[in-house]
Amino acid sequence: MNIIDLHVHAGDFKFLRDDIQNLLTHKALEPGFSVSQIYSNADQMESYMRQQGVVRTIVIAECGPGTFFTNDSRSIANFAEKAKNNDFFITFGNINPNYHRNPAQEFWISILLGVNGFKFYPADHAFDPFLPSMMEVYGLCEKFSLPIMFHTGLTAQKDTEQRFIHPFEFKQIAEAYPGLTIILAHCGKPLWYKEAFTMASSFTNVYLDTSLVEPKTLKEYIAMFPKIEKKIFFGSDWPVTGSYTELLSKYKQAEISSDIILDIFYSNAEKMLSEALQKQQLAEVKSAAKNYLSNNA
Ligand SMILES: [Zn+2]
Repeated sequence: MNIIDLHVHAGDFKFLRDDIQNLLTHKALEPGFSVSQIYSNADQMESYMRQQGVVRTIVIAECGPGTFFTNDSRSIANFAEKAKNNDFFITFGNINPNYHRNPAQEFWISILLGVNGFKFYPADHAFDPFLPSMMEVYGLCEKFSLPIMFHTGLTAQKDTEQRFIHPFEFKQIAEAYPGLTIILAHCGKPLWYKEAFTMASSFTNVYLDTSLVEPKTLKEYIAMFPKIEKKIFFGSDWPVTGSYTELLSKYKQAEISSDIILDIFYSNAEKMLSEALQKQQLAEVKSAAKNYLSNNA
């Protein structure tokens, strides 16, 4: 089976704070594999992923205290550029309004770096996701068809206040930007699955990713919400998830129907990404970025 993995972390392992290094290595990988090496090297990551059937991976920037603000859109673009095969990685940048003084400018810089979407971490980065400067960024993402992802659910970072983690809190953004693809990462794990699934079934522009959700739990909620399988993308949250082999075998054990597995592991993401990338090209987002940055230099 071909897999598109929508949620993978990459960067430079040595720059991560101790609690994040522990988080990324607390679950063992397959024997002979090293998280710190795969996490930090695009070719090693590609070969690790391909062995599992992955044909495309979204790698995500994370510019916050857990990475000492090192893993920004530049860093993730750099990571993917080093890959021999340019088609394998899609990059999602990151904007943190507590670090980036001008979020709109960082949006345009990220565009020129080639990122195709964003992940935002209001809880881990301690910001209010409804800040006007961030709302402006979501509006740009809507206009230029960049999908965005929010962390939802409890977070493991040691100094996080558990705020802005409830799926229902993102209603306001879903309503304000109906053309914006919003992915609620982790489905609000482990306490707010029902909220997350309700969001995805109520809003045409809200989707879920499966990262860190037990496949058996996923199956239960899919049964409760009609047609919801079209709104779910597979994400591993590797390396937090540990062994990919083990993760896939948990999916086998959950005995989710093969049609649903095909939707979640491949078809939904393929459709969403190809539409987004095509629209980004048509909107000539890179030339818009050049214009903005030369007018605001
Ligand atoms: Zn993650």
